[in-house]
Amino acid sequence: MNGRPPEADPMLRSFLAERDAPCPSCGYNLRGLTGSFCPECDQALVLRVGLVEPRLAGWVAGLVGLAMGAGFSGLLVIYWLTVIVQRGRAIRTDEFILVTGAGLVVEGLALWAWVRYGAAIRRLPSSARGMLALGCWVLTGANFWVFAFAIR
Ligand SMILES: [Zn+2]
Repeated sequence: MNGRPPEADPMLRSFLAERDAPCPSCGYNLRGLTGSFCPECDQALVLRVGLVEPRLAGWVAGLVGLAMGAGFSGLLVIYWLTVIVQRGRAIRTDEFILVTGAGLVVEGLALWAWVRYGAAIRRLPSSARGMLALGCWVLTGANFWVFAFAIR
């Protein structure tokens, strides 16, 4: 029984009894399904309320901005560590690891908060969401700028 419910949610069963509905994963037509798993791809199914068109542009834009900045700093920290492992000493200056490490911590924490408080951010008016997303890109731009001008 591997933890499966013995039968489908009655509302799911009722919904599929008279309707063609594709499995969201594999597209198999679930019409007439009596269980709660797709017979084709074996994934659990649930009946739920959905958005016609989720308004995620502002939140996704901020996520991309922060992920880009955290990834930039993170790769540079990995590069710095790789050089130490290969050559037995750091060939770059202390500023290099200070700037890239600080960039990784600041952008990483901002990214964590952006995901952690995503629901609250998506509840904000779209103008406020847009300003916050712009702030994410400004932070990443500042990260690039500090790196470009502090590291010679
Ligand atoms: Zn399926």
